[in-house]
Amino acid sequence: MASRSSRQSYSHNHNNGSSSSSSSSTSTSSSSSSAAVSSRTTVGHAQPAHNSSGRPKPPSATSRRSVTPNSRTQSFHSDQEPRRVRVAIRLRPRNAEDLLSDADFSDCVELQPELKRLKLSKNNWSSESYRFDEVFTETASQKRVYEVVAKPVVESVLNGYNGTVMAYGQTGTGKTYTVGRLGKEDASERGIMVRALEDIIASTSPASDSVEVSYLQLYMESIQDLLAPEKTNIPINEDPKTGEVSLPGATVVRVQDLDHFLQLLQVGEANRHAANTKMNTESSRSHAILMVHIRRSVHEKVNDEINSQEKGTKSDLFDGNGIPIVRKSKLLIVDLAGSERIDKSGSEGLLLEEAKFINLSLSSLGKCINALAENSSHIPTRDSKLTRLLRDSFGGSARTSLIVTIGPSARHHAETASTIMFGQRAMKIVNMVKLKEEFDYESLSRKLEGQVDHLTAEIERQQKLRDDDKYKLEKQLRECHDSFAEARKVLVTRSEILEKENIHLESEMKGILNELNHQKDLNNLMQDKVSKLEMSLKHSEQHQLENSTYQKVLADTTQMYEKKMAELIKQIEDERAHSENAEEQLALMKKLLSEQQKSIQGQKQIDELALKLQEMYQLHENTLSELQSLKSENKDLLLQKEKLNEELHSVRQRLLEQEKQRKGIENELFKLKRAVPENENDFEDKKSYMKEELSKGSSEFGNRMGSYRSNPLRENISGQRATIAKICEEVGLQKILQLLTSEDSDVQVHAVKVVANLAAEDINQKRIVEEGGLDALLMLLRSLENTTILRVASGAIANLAMNEMNQALIMDKGGALLLAKTASKTEDPQTLRMVAGALANLCGNEKLLTVLKEDGGIKALLGMARSGSSDVIAQVARGLANFAKCESRGVIQGHRIGRSLLIDDGALTWLIANSNTNSASTRRHVELALCHLAQNEDNAKDIISGGGVKVLIQISVESSREDIRNLAKKMLRLNPSLQADMHAR
Ligand code: ADP
Ligand code: MG
Repeated sequence: MASRSSRQSYSHNHNNGSSSSSSSSTSTSSSSSSAAVSSRTTVGHAQPAHNSSGRPKPPSATSRRSVTPNSRTQSFHSDQEPRRVRVAIRLRPRNAEDLLSDADFSDCVELQPELKRLKLSKNNWSSESYRFDEVFTETASQKRVYEVVAKPVVESVLNGYNGTVMAYGQTGTGKTYTVGRLGKEDASERGIMVRALEDIIASTSPASDSVEVSYLQLYMESIQDLLAPEKTNIPINEDPKTGEVSLPGATVVRVQDLDHFLQLLQVGEANRHAANTKMNTESSRSHAILMVHIRRSVHEKVNDEINSQEKGTKSDLFDGNGIPIVRKSKLLIVDLAGSERIDKSGSEGLLLEEAKFINLSLSSLGKCINALAENSSHIPTRDSKLTRLLRDSFGGSARTSLIVTIGPSARHHAETASTIMFGQRAMKIVNMVKLKEEFDYESLSRKLEGQVDHLTAEIERQQKLRDDDKYKLEKQLRECHDSFAEARKVLVTRSEILEKENIHLESEMKGILNELNHQKDLNNLMQDKVSKLEMSLKHSEQHQLENSTYQKVLADTTQMYEKKMAELIKQIEDERAHSENAEEQLALMKKLLSEQQKSIQGQKQIDELALKLQEMYQLHENTLSELQSLKSENKDLLLQKEKLNEELHSVRQRLLEQEKQRKGIENELFKLKRAVPENENDFEDKKSYMKEELSKGSSEFGNRMGSYRSNPLRENISGQRATIAKICEEVGLQKILQLLTSEDSDVQVHAVKVVANLAAEDINQKRIVEEGGLDALLMLLRSLENTTILRVASGAIANLAMNEMNQALIMDKGGALLLAKTASKTEDPQTLRMVAGALANLCGNEKLLTVLKEDGGIKALLGMARSGSSDVIAQVARGLANFAKCESRGVIQGHRIGRSLLIDDGALTWLIANSNTNSASTRRHVELALCHLAQNEDNAKDIISGGGVKVLIQISVESSREDIRNLAKKMLRLNPSLQADMHAR
């Protein structure tokens, strides 16, 4: 390090203060070796730097040192280092004046730069030798002077110590040259101020460090700002605690670069000159003070630069608590006023006091130096502004170098001697240098403030974000609430709507149900109507047939009558011829009479003839009247025939219409049947047989009637009924019933058919029975073997058996027995069907059940079932169902007890065996019969033993009719025995 090497030249003597009052011989001997010099101790001077043991001892001045509480020097002993004030001497080259004046004088000083000694001649034979820290000959360069004297101080200042470089000497010896020379024209002439700032600027960084300067002049105890000359008498501020001296009123300029500093110096110089001119004084009377404030932040780099002892503690501290450290050091470069006495400087006209005042600061400095050098207890620092300003430089904490300038001229011997003595005394002062380092609370505070600001901003940002989030969340919450309320509202309205809808649907459903029931009723009605229409149609066809038969009969009758009439006419003609003959005979007789009258012979004969004639005439008259009546009768008959024909025509017309209507109804029926899968009609209790039978038999008649076969005429039912009723009225029911007993089987057939047909109508049934029709029909069954008559008669009885009133009568008259007998004597399925139908109708009367069973009705039914005809079996099943139903009704009503009458005759077995029949209607009746039988607990045993439970279960599941399924389920459920048997399965 440059500073070290330059310091070496300084320090190897530093303990040697000076060897004042030593003779030249002494000085000679003492200059023998540097080692000897360095081993010497100061004698006769209070030397605070080292005691005899060589250990540094704090000088007494330490107690007066400026100690700032913030200063780290307090905490670290090692920071306080004793350092003596260094003093160098510089000899100015001779100038013209010297050369002139010293023509007869030899030089009064002799320099021994290698020995760092100066010999000052006292007289021609003796001289005194003084040792300095450095001795610059007149040839010494500005650069070397700077490097030896100022640079170590500058470096020290850069490292955080205060420093002072001061020039002391007589006016004109080169103080200003050494210190303040700008060297604008010749760079080699630049003085300490410029070079120091150059080094400082080079060693600091504008980013982290600051270099500020104030430039002041002290004259007559007034401090004037050379950078702002208007500022005069700037007060000195002394911190009572720290002792730190500052000039708060002085301008402080932050130095940007060297040029800037040069400008400042120049301005200061100009101002100094102007001020001195104004005050009519010389610049040599004033002190110029350059204050350089250096503020450096401590970085690693800085730590590297400082010595290891400092380094360790600093980095510990720096690392330890992370508080930034700042070094605030101050460099004072002082160009003192001339040290000569005032009178000698030629300042005439000044009062002594004034002159004293002018030099107060300098003389005060001298006193302080003396006091310090003599280790006096009182240092009169406060006596002048200069000593106050330089308090830290001498006996303080600053590193101080003093350059003492002297001239070579013997003329100024006394001045030179006193100057040298000043230097010698100054060399004895030991300062305790102290690192001006403190925690950079300011920057820390700034940094912390920055952090706080950053954190505050961050917190604010976070707060804002939180607020935003909160707002958003609140908004969402609100929205959620809203949507929830809305959803709830919607739900409520929806549920209300649904409820309303529900109610509406329920009412609609009820309506539909009603409608359905209504439809059902209507449907039933329609079906009834349809079946009635079908029956009526068949009936009308039958009627038509009957009508045609009747017509035929009429035609026959008419023919017969015509024949009879022809015979009668012939008879009349015969009678007429006879009468004519008689008239002729009468005429002849009259002639004869006249002849006889003339002859008057045989009066008696004439009388006889006249009588005979009278008789003949009477006969003729009678015949004529008879003829007349016959003619009228014929006429009537013809009229009647014509009327009948007309009626027939109208009947045909109506039949045609009826046919059309029927087709329409058939279509409708077809549609209805398609629309309604199964009608819920109960099984039929009654059935009119004759009508369908007659319609079935029509082909027979048609064949016989021939001409009617091809005619597709169908009669209007009511018309036909009316016709038959009319015939019945005209011919008389009695007559027709009589015809039943006719010898002619054809007549019988026709009559029985008419009767059967009439019996199909409720209104006729009573009359037929009252007028003996039932007896006649039973008679026919009893006596006749004619299949057709048997069948038709059976049908008629079956029809009559539809009427409950007739049923008892039929039974009373042995109808059941007769029917059973008829069943046994024929195998004609149609007849059997009629008989079975009649019996089935009788089965529907509860009062007759016992008699019917006793009369063999059930056996007859079961016997007929063996014929195998499905129609017959259907009737058998219907009969059994009727029977079982009546029985179960009786059981329910409580007037029938015991097991079914059907069981003994094997009906139950038959029913169970036929429960799987293919015919839907038969099966339905079988199922119903079984269900009704199952209703009676007394039948249970037989049902179970006959395997009926299984069939009932099957019915409850498989029956095509829901009501029957339900009935079967009900029976199975209600009849405990069946229930038990079912569970046993
Ligand atoms: P002071 O400031 O002590 O009154 P100056 O610095 O003004 O003296 O010097 C007086 C004169 O001597 C100036 O003209 C200066 O240039 C000159 N001078 C002083 N010292 C030297 C030197 N070492 N080399 C050359 N000239 C010098
Ligand atoms: Mg000067």
